[in-house]
Amino acid sequence: MTERMTTLTRTLSSWMLEQPQTLAEIEQHVVRLLKELGASLVAGLCALAAAPQPSPLLPCACGHVAAYQRERKAQVTTLLGSISIWRSYYLCAACGRGQHPLDAQLQFCAGSRSAALDELLALLGATQDSFVQAAQVLERLTLVHVSANSVREATEHLGALLLEHQTPPHSEREPNPQPHALSTTRPRPLYITMDGVLAHLHERGWSELKVGCCYHTRSRANRKRPERLELRAESASYVCALEEAQSFGWRLWQEAVRRGVLTSDEVVVLGDGAHWIWNIAERHFPRATQIVDWYHASEYLWNAASAIWGEVSLERADWAHAQLALLWEGKVKEVLAELLQWRARGAAVEAAVSYYTEHQTRMDYASYRSRGLQIGSGSAESACKQLVSARLKQAGMLWDASGAEAVAVVRAWLLSERWQEAIALRGVRTRGYRRKQADQNQAVQKSVGKRQTSERVEPLATARQQAMPAEVLAQVQAELAEHRGKNGWDKAWSIPRQRELASQRAEQTRTTAA
Ligand SMILES: [Zn+2]
Repeated sequence: MTERMTTLTRTLSSWMLEQPQTLAEIEQHVVRLLKELGASLVAGLCALAAAPQPSPLLPCACGHVAAYQRERKAQVTTLLGSISIWRSYYLCAACGRGQHPLDAQLQFCAGSRSAALDELLALLGATQDSFVQAAQVLERLTLVHVSANSVREATEHLGALLLEHQTPPHSEREPNPQPHALSTTRPRPLYITMDGVLAHLHERGWSELKVGCCYHTRSRANRKRPERLELRAESASYVCALEEAQSFGWRLWQEAVRRGVLTSDEVVVLGDGAHWIWNIAERHFPRATQIVDWYHASEYLWNAASAIWGEVSLERADWAHAQLALLWEGKVKEVLAELLQWRARGAAVEAAVSYYTEHQTRMDYASYRSRGLQIGSGSAESACKQLVSARLKQAGMLWDASGAEAVAVVRAWLLSERWQEAIALRGVRTRGYRRKQADQNQAVQKSVGKRQTSERVEPLATARQQAMPAEVLAQVQAELAEHRGKNGWDKAWSIPRQRELASQRAEQTRTTAA
């Protein structure tokens, strides 16, 4: 290292003396050289970790002993670029298993990326607009080149791990009222809100990701009208998954327990009219105050007003404001009575009647306001936007289920300010895991065929996926096959065949038009 540093200083000095340089040029040049120097330093320190004299024998997992073979080189991509690490290789004659003790000690796997680089990849993969962009940003920041696929892999790996962490074990499917270590008695109400948001998936088309948010509120003066206090959500934490309401309920419940739901004086569940939301509320948070989002409730009134009075009439707004005033004062029964009179005026009024009938116990807004409770579920909607829409719904994006879910979950932990915790959950990546993952990816690719998308997102070999029942897989394959039938281009392998299909389609269009 000393030698290299001396050479470096000498080279840089003569470079400076050759011709005048700007600060920007000096900076760029030095950063590049420092990166190379850093990579040698990391490699050198790793070499120091290896025993100078490898012992001839080591215990093998099978119970026999593995014998020293030779030194083998491993390539690892780190934050400072690619480095080579030489380490001893042992082979067990009894079971044929090879091992590199240094790999386990340094916690890396040959041919892969370092944990620090993987962290950065997952962070960028979840926050940049695409995996391609993430790889570009990384290169600008660290001068390290990785493929977009590496970014995807690192992001999905972390996402799958976090999903797994939040999934309660199957045996504990009953509420377990043990206060979590993190929960303390909180005088402020704990809000729990949830919503669904669609993402475009290969296998199932537009599918709903469920998003849940737990938060507290703090009142502060309105900027424009300081005499009015408004409630702002704070210390929000999020869960997100692509799953049925039943398992999502457990996931959200687990997060609520972490946030102190078992020791909170008051719990509020806020949501729109979706049935699954209120089923989860009944099942997991039976003591909670249930509130239907004020804006959804008002929307139904405005739609009814348009149906009754027409879009452009003056009476429309007057009527809607009068009903909203009643609603604001908690006179839901009067609003409902009014709506019932106009029932004959079409579907919008009918929809409002059934919405108000079903949710009237969740619309006691006067009482909620007097208790200082928030009545808008804006937090759930903004969570959907931040976790899912902002990253997964860029133009033309098409995802694999596991990829979409993983990215949303990584974003959820990041926005919950639990990044350090998420990173700490990562275990040691071993060679065995990676091989298995590569095999599974190949197998899945073979069965599904080659696809072209803006974001190619391949399935991950997670425990969840391995447990995927055969019938689900068969269903997915059947749906894919059906899709191919509809769109001939997917199956069109040759140019003549494409032409044939195109002429057939033109023929069909002509016949239909005729
Ligand atoms: Zn062995």
